[in-house]
Formats: sequence, structure tokens, C-alpha cells
Amino acid sequence: MNAVVRAEGVCKSYGTLEVLKGIDLEVGQGEVLAVIGPSGSGKSTFLRCVNHLERIDAGRLYVHDRLIGYEEREGKVYELPDHAVARQRRGIGMVFQRFNLFPHMTALENVMAAPIMVKKEPKAAVRERAHDLLARVGLADKTNAHPAQLSGGQQQRVAIARALAMRPDLMLFDEPTSALDPELVGEVLDVMRALVEDGMTMIIVTHEMGFAREVCDTLVFMDGGVVVESGLPSALLGAPQHERTKAFLSKVL
Ligand code: ADP
Ligand code: MG
Repeated sequence: MNAVVRAEGVCKSYGTLEVLKGIDLEVGQGEVLAVIGPSGSGKSTFLRCVNHLERIDAGRLYVHDRLIGYEEREGKVYELPDHAVARQRRGIGMVFQRFNLFPHMTALENVMAAPIMVKKEPKAAVRERAHDLLARVGLADKTNAHPAQLSGGQQQRVAIARALAMRPDLMLFDEPTSALDPELVGEVLDVMRALVEDGMTMIIVTHEMGFAREVCDTLVFMDGGVVVESGLPSALLGAPQHERTKAFLSKVL
């Protein structure tokens, strides 16, 4: 019962387009789950469902044994009000392919923004934590830089620090290195590797197979809105069981 994320038959459509067709998966405390699969298979949609940026149509999605976006009372399910959803989301950090930093704010201000505005934490304490976080992602010397003055890799590291500033216990990464020049990918993966070593629970959608093989506990292959296959990375990459997995891997490995 101590899964951090538990998806049971999660379905999601946009109009008549069925994007998720019954996703079942579980992520335990401190587990790192990587999700791979072709473009359009529903990977981003699934991540967005986990923090209720998208509303699911069927199934159940639990974070720390609580329905995300809903509450169960006397056997019935009710939608939570926005403020309650916002509270649930605070524990979930999300990092996107595009960094989405506030352009008019410095790196430090970007990292400080949410704890001050959303959590109403005292500024001095947040500032200290933001300095620590920027140091942790190797940007102690860039605290006063604006996003436009930073490389893509640096901006993505600020985005990770910003997500960590809310002290999440679950981090979701949606292709965090896909928008980066190849020479900048490594610095972002290094930061993620350090998070793994710290024991952070993570779901990572990625095309970085080497990284997935090295750091993740479980690898999930999604195609057409279903989990086709999942298992130990060495097993899934070394001896895929399904034709669709084999076909995908033959293109990317
Ligand atoms: P992936 O991340 O695996 O590439 P996505 O989850 O982004 O896949 O998208 C899955 C499918 O859902 C795609 O066909 C995409 O066009 C469609 N889709 C995603 N978001 C929306 C949306 N907001 N409205 C309509 N269709 C969407
Ligand atoms: Mg995507």
C-alpha cells in the first residue's frame, strides 16, 4: 500500500481521440521509473494526469494513497476544489521539455517564486534555500542572471531547482533534455542522477536510453495509450518480449 503513484485503468480522451486506454502502473517510494515510447503514445498526457493538469475519464490515479484531484467519501468520488488540488500538487515537482522560466526574473527569483507566492513562506528562509538549490545544480555563480543570459542546460537546471524549492517528494520529468543541444544534455542528466542518489521518487519520460538503463529501477514502454511492457531496464532493453517494443527499440538504440 505504500506506492507513491498508483495508476489503475487510467483512461483519457480528447474528444473522440482516445489517448490513454487503461494505464496500470505503480511507483514505489524512492523508485525511479522511466517511460519510453513513440511520439503520440500518451506519455506526456499520463504525466499531466499524475498532477491533475489533465482530468482522467476513467480509472483511478492515487498519489500517496490519495486520489489526485478527487476525494472518496462513503464510496462516492467527488471532485476536489481548486485550492485542494493546488495543495496536492505542491508535493509534485514537474520539469518540462521547455523550461518555462519567468523571463523577467533572475534565476534566484525564479526559484524563490513559488514558495513565497504559493506557500507564503518567509522570504529570508526561501532565499537561503534557493541559494542552496542553485548551488546544488551547479549554478551558484548565476543567481542574478536572467533566463536569456543562460544556456538551455543552465535554464533547465534552474527549472529543476525551482521545482525542488517546493520540497516535492515526487518529481515528474517530461523529456527534460529533448530541447537541448547535445553538449548540454550531460549537465542536466548529472543533476537528475544526483536526485536519484538522494532517493527522490521520479517518473522520467526520456529518449536517453543510456541514462534510463543506468539510473532507473523500472522501464515502461508505452505505445498507443497502453503500457505494452515494463520491467528491469536490462531485461526490457536486452530481451524485449513484444514485437512493438522490439520495433521501437530497433529504431532508437
Ligand atoms: P507523447 O508525449 O507520448 O508524445 P502526448 O501525450 O503528448 O504523447 O499526446 C498523445 C496524443 O494526444 C497525441 O495524438 C496528441 O496529439 C494528443 N493530444 C495531446 N494533448 C492534447 C490536447 N490538449 N488536445 C487534443 N489532443 C491532444
Ligand atoms: Mg510528450
